[in-house]
Amino acid sequence: MTASEVQRSSSTREATASGNGFANGTAPGFAGGRALRPSAKVLPEHARAHNLSLVLQTLYRLGSRSRADLARETGLTRVTISDLVAELIADSLVIELGTREGARPGKPATLLDINRSGHEIIGIDLSDHEVLRGAILDLDGTILDRAEVELDGATGSAVTTKVIDLVRELIARSSLPILGIGVGSPGVVDLAGTVQSAPNLGWTSEPLQAELAAATDYPVLVANDANAAALAEHSFGEATSDMMLIKVGRGVGAGLLLGGSPLFGSRFAAGELGHVVVGTDGGDACACGKRGCLETWVAAPRLTAKLDAARDDAERDDILRRAGERLGIALAPVVGALNLDEIVLSGPVELLDGPLAESAIETLRNRTMAEFHGDLTVRMTALGQDIVMRGAAAMVLSGQLGVS
Ligand SMILES: [Zn+2]
Repeated sequence: MTASEVQRSSSTREATASGNGFANGTAPGFAGGRALRPSAKVLPEHARAHNLSLVLQTLYRLGSRSRADLARETGLTRVTISDLVAELIADSLVIELGTREGARPGKPATLLDINRSGHEIIGIDLSDHEVLRGAILDLDGTILDRAEVELDGATGSAVTTKVIDLVRELIARSSLPILGIGVGSPGVVDLAGTVQSAPNLGWTSEPLQAELAAATDYPVLVANDANAAALAEHSFGEATSDMMLIKVGRGVGAGLLLGGSPLFGSRFAAGELGHVVVGTDGGDACACGKRGCLETWVAAPRLTAKLDAARDDAERDDILRRAGERLGIALAPVVGALNLDEIVLSGPVELLDGPLAESAIETLRNRTMAEFHGDLTVRMTALGQDIVMRGAAAMVLSGQLGVS
């Protein structure tokens, strides 16, 4: 089956789905407000698309199963399961693995799995201020190949051209049908994948998703980089369903999952905590014109400069502890209002993992109610530098197949 056939069969299914994904750059990004993991059957109108995703999700999460197992796990009838599986096998999204010797007499059951190595996903990370990174991933989010291009100070349409070139290079290198292309971009990104504002890249109202879809003819999803990172934690990490991922780099951003669904906000800027002023005691001047924004305390370049100027380890520890305290002060009302149970930090390990994280959790515990937030954890992501590219792949999995 060729890539375009995969695309066509996916689009056919999307045509009958209700907000269960996207079609070639025209529909919203990963569907707003929808729970990421379908977990129960639904009835008539939208049932088929939902149930196809339910079968895929069950196999994706639980691994190989027989048709009878799938019927038990999903609550669907065996006839329905056989019919759904036949369509998924025809689309090359599910494969038969062979038979399992049953404990009971009779015909051995044929095991099925999602076709994990039958397709590839392209994931792009635009969050670094020096290079644009891309990768080819399999359906389990494993990185198979990488490519990157220097930003070289480019802004505006020159960046768009670099992104398109990077994606084309990865398409040329891929050896299997491509399920879709996911992109994590800094800045505010709306549900149509238009980057409303990304000052560092010189983008205002940049319709990146539509441009990439037109340039490549593949399904494309563009989302905020921290939101993509939160999805990576949910799909490939250990994250709970009510979590916030704080991404510290040149700036500070955050992605939120509530009840397993991404939160976007009224103007798609949910999680934009970087320019929220922390405390009432002033602070350093910020690029935005205010003083004492979270970014002035925690952003990597500022923190690194302060640490470089410190006299000894005790002073460095103190700088990191004070940064962590400000992070805790900024997060406490968010944790309290949303009843989050986990904060995941992504960024330079040497800055975040240690006194900063310890001080943040201490501050959070002191400032929230123990009976509701006593189990709150603050930890580093285990996904490292690849978190945004893997999150971009998770967006494609969620949007195209309904799995996460
Ligand atoms: Zn600011």
